[in-house]
Amino acid sequence: MDSNSGNPGQEPPGQDGRLADWTRRPLMQDWPLTVDRILEHAKALHGRQEVVTRSLEGPIVRTSYAEIYRRAKRCSNLLQHLGVRPGDRVATLAWNTGRHLETWYGIMGIGAICHTLNPRTFADQQRYIITHAEDKVILVDLPLLPALLALRAHLPSVTHIVVLGDPGSVPEGPGLHAYESLLAQASEDVAWGGFDENAPAGLCYTSGTTGNPKGVLYSHRSNFLHTFMTLAQDVMGLSARAVVLPIVPMFHANAWGLTFSCPAAGAKMVMPGQRLDGAALQELIETEGVTFAAAVPTVWQGLLDHLRATGAQIGSLRRIMIGGAAAPEALLRAYRDDYGVEVTHAWGMTEVSPVGTVSTATDEIAALDADAQLRFNLKQGRAPLGVELKLKDEAGQALPEDGVQFGRLMVRGPAVARRYFKDEGGEILDEDGYFDTGDMATIDPHGFMQITDRAKDVIKSGGEWISSIEIENIVAGHPKVELCAVVAIPHPKWDERPVLLVKLRADQAATRDDFLDYLQGRIARWWMPDDVVFLSEIPLGPTGKVDKKRLRADLRGFTAPPT
Ligand code: AMP
Repeated sequence: MDSNSGNPGQEPPGQDGRLADWTRRPLMQDWPLTVDRILEHAKALHGRQEVVTRSLEGPIVRTSYAEIYRRAKRCSNLLQHLGVRPGDRVATLAWNTGRHLETWYGIMGIGAICHTLNPRTFADQQRYIITHAEDKVILVDLPLLPALLALRAHLPSVTHIVVLGDPGSVPEGPGLHAYESLLAQASEDVAWGGFDENAPAGLCYTSGTTGNPKGVLYSHRSNFLHTFMTLAQDVMGLSARAVVLPIVPMFHANAWGLTFSCPAAGAKMVMPGQRLDGAALQELIETEGVTFAAAVPTVWQGLLDHLRATGAQIGSLRRIMIGGAAAPEALLRAYRDDYGVEVTHAWGMTEVSPVGTVSTATDEIAALDADAQLRFNLKQGRAPLGVELKLKDEAGQALPEDGVQFGRLMVRGPAVARRYFKDEGGEILDEDGYFDTGDMATIDPHGFMQITDRAKDVIKSGGEWISSIEIENIVAGHPKVELCAVVAIPHPKWDERPVLLVKLRADQAATRDDFLDYLQGRIARWWMPDDVVFLSEIPLGPTGKVDKKRLRADLRGFTAPPT
């Protein structure tokens, strides 16, 4: 007999009459996945674990998860006192510090939404973002205050600005407060959690490479599940014995989740403050015994240049994560071969919380020789549990995962955006619930995804695609190159052709032909750039990636010499 038959409300008969009753009641506990539990756990089990910060004032400051917890509780009270209620947006405009970390938990614990602002965003866009988010309170690092105050008259939603500093250092003004003096008056007694795990926890705007930036509203549940995912050995593999340096800023997609996964694992955190130069990072790594660090390629390149110039070491570092932009082969080889560091190349985006794929080897790949392994390591990698990928062609048809055909990369999972904040951009999922990443990629039979380009950066020459990333990765290995980019210029016959833009290292000279010769035999002949342009600066966007939109605008009207 069908156990689902019977009238509504009537007990469905089971085989023995009792089983059916059990199946209707949840047998496991309802334990909402809210992120306050992460810090509760860190306090309870890793309370003495250190959180070390290079403070903006300069000295190293040491605290612990137990202390961060206590101060976060007081921060919650402080915010409630300023009128913050569940669902309100509280923004932070701050570098990676222990203090910034405690404010996150203080905000999210009471059901308010932590909105991370990027200090590198230019003023007009910052004003747009704060106004669109309707931020009520902004917590700001003292060095970033002047830029914020310059916008103040144009921020109608903002009722209070709290400066993350001591009373003596903060200028007086209406609605302007010193964090430490408010915190000193606030009690630790406040209730956290107790709301639905789907409640919003964090808000982060995308870099806005086209149109206005759009907000991604993370839920407690999505952050919690993303934390479990990143802790896996093949993703970040953090543990209570790890010493983690989150170089990637907290305003860049939750420092790739490290703000949650470090306290979850009980790992020691080393927060670099605002100094992300090679010398400052090397010193922190050596003195604090850092074992794991995460950053974009330009930062890793800066550290590498410093190590080579000074002979300094990074002996404690065992594993690094490179993401946010493609990791060039020369960079990967240098860390792996010269410094004995395991490199995890990762792809992600703000809309994906952000980790989407990681290039850790499978047993089959680990059995290959070093060079063959490197070919996989250079790809952006495989999706962990909780991320599903597919490729689509321009007509929306699924493409085979043969490592050759490339199409639009689509992604879905419980930590992937369903829509943007305030429904900007309307429906963003396809009929199967996949989000269009705007990236072009291949997926090989081992499941390794490789980004060939951002869809808007692809170069279409004579109806065929040229991967700018692939050419850039080769040129980045040239010893005279500090930074490079390949962009499309219009062409009367081929529609578009690639042009190589190069910033040479200090005191280096090179010619167009040096680079064209260097590329000879390394790429297909028809991929060869039509010209090489030397620049004194290559502009970077707010998250440290080459700003190709600006480069293309600067090149408008440029024509390559006839070949
Ligand atoms: P954001 O949301 O600012 O982190 O930007 C996400 C975008 O950065 C992705 O859609 C990719 O275009 C790019 N990206 C991130 N990681 C990588 C990577 N490992 N290789 C190439 N592009 C990447």
